[in-house]
Amino acid sequence: WEKAPPTLRDLFRIARGHGEKTFVVYQDERVTFTGFARAATALARALVEAGLRKGDRVAIAQRNLPEWPVSYFGALLAGAIATPLNAWWTGPELAYGLQHSGARVLIADGERFARLAPHLGECPALERVLTTRMEPDPRAMPLAEIVGPVRDWAALPDLPLPDIALDPEDDATLFYTSGTTGKPKGAVGTHRAAATTVMAYPYSAARSALRRGESPPKPDPSAPQRAALLVIPLFHVTGCHASLGAALYGGHRLVMMHRWDANAALDLIEAEGCTSAGGVPTIAWQLATAAREAGRPLPSLEGVTYGGAPAAGDLVRTLGEALPKVVPGTGWGMTETSATFTHHQGEDYLAHPESCGPPLPVCEVRIVDPLGDVLPPGAVGELCVKGPNVVRGYWDDPTATAEALSEGWLRTGDLARADDEGFLTIVDRIKDMLIRGGENIYCCEVENALYAHPDVIDAVVLPVPHPTLGEEPGAIVVLAEGSSADASEIRAFAAARLAAFKVPVRIVIRDELLPRNPAGKILRAPLRAVFAGVSDQNGSPS
Ligand code: ATP
Ligand code: MG
Repeated sequence: WEKAPPTLRDLFRIARGHGEKTFVVYQDERVTFTGFARAATALARALVEAGLRKGDRVAIAQRNLPEWPVSYFGALLAGAIATPLNAWWTGPELAYGLQHSGARVLIADGERFARLAPHLGECPALERVLTTRMEPDPRAMPLAEIVGPVRDWAALPDLPLPDIALDPEDDATLFYTSGTTGKPKGAVGTHRAAATTVMAYPYSAARSALRRGESPPKPDPSAPQRAALLVIPLFHVTGCHASLGAALYGGHRLVMMHRWDANAALDLIEAEGCTSAGGVPTIAWQLATAAREAGRPLPSLEGVTYGGAPAAGDLVRTLGEALPKVVPGTGWGMTETSATFTHHQGEDYLAHPESCGPPLPVCEVRIVDPLGDVLPPGAVGELCVKGPNVVRGYWDDPTATAEALSEGWLRTGDLARADDEGFLTIVDRIKDMLIRGGENIYCCEVENALYAHPDVIDAVVLPVPHPTLGEEPGAIVVLAEGSSADASEIRAFAAARLAAFKVPVRIVIRDELLPRNPAGKILRAPLRAVFAGVSDQNGSPS
């Protein structure tokens, strides 16, 4: 970690040094590190010239495009707080992000601009809109007027960076949480927090080698360039700090997918010789299944890493069967921990498949009871974390900040246990846990028991109201095509694996996959109605 760049500007300088290597591949566009660096520098200079001040927010509302990292670093190099907005948000949600962050500048792609255009008048702090991938519009200025077309970026003049004093403890980023449990929260991270995550990738490579008794790999300039298939949105910390950060630091190629499609992913991995791929567990599962069905062994692929949501128990096995040479990896993290906080891969992962790994070495964890007292190894309690990658708080929300953070310790809202060796296992979110007559039921545990059935391809456990017990577990499951299983068979299967009080009292079979947010997390709120008695049309109760 001594090698960690202290600020994101230092990371940018490292990236600029990768010169003529390809940095981004997007459809038929290819951008070199030089092209990226010159375009970001031109944008930063233009923003400063236009009066942007240190600490102002610059919002980015774009899908994964070559312009995304240029917009992000253009903002950072100008001393602004880069504020990525969720590209799947509707017009009013995007407007909320602009209002909440008080962004002075917005850099949007055509689709996001079209959604936002009717709401621009509701964002009083917004002074300037730059756009890309759309016809000229009188309300905005094309980004290309500043940086030129993507294909010409490398020919831009090599100009100095704006002369802005930047400290590692300065605010750098404002990322919104996924909104799984409520309204998305704006987490503000410093340069140090974001730059810390950049080291997670070299660390995990070194840790795996050390555990195999080998010395950590030294950078070999003659080795073929590594290439990552980028599926995760850059507006999430994992896409930005982990995937983009690793590519900038290590000089890797980022192969951006226009839209997730498992078979298109196989084509891209083969065409670009991708060495790594990853995303949320569902994506890893779809990739493995598509590779197995198509009989494509993906020889270039060395690792597949996923996280951000609970992985179904046998994902490692599915991956191992489909792509035996691939090293599986997983991790746990939050927007508030600037992505990766724990990391787990290879043999360690296979030996502890239920775990999300140990924390990064610069991080600390505690498992606490509801009073805040530290629990011993093996006990389940709230996971609290501390480290240089933890954000400093929530934007413009001192109450939420004080509730979540105290003396550097962040209450995560996740329930977990740690074993003697420090391997963490996430058990559930506190908000998802059921309490049946005083007994805690962790939904993830019940869902994993359902997933263990070979025909179950998707499952969620939700409360069924009960007059005296409070609530009991119910489940919605999706079965593989052609399965002859029914609710009573699934229930009997679960009953053989779970204590009686944890076995779902009702099981509803549903035809379509469960609704998920773009972060891969099941949207529980609309599904709760199935058991609340409001709507029960999605299947037959057991
Ligand atoms: P919000 O905070 O707005 O409700 P969110 O918590 O889903 O949304 P993120 O910061 O994107 O927003 O996600 C962090 C959460 O994702 C963690 O608190 C945890 O519940 C879940 N998560 C992340 N990684 C894992 C993992 N490996 N296993 C299980 N859950 C995970
Ligand atoms: Mg959260």
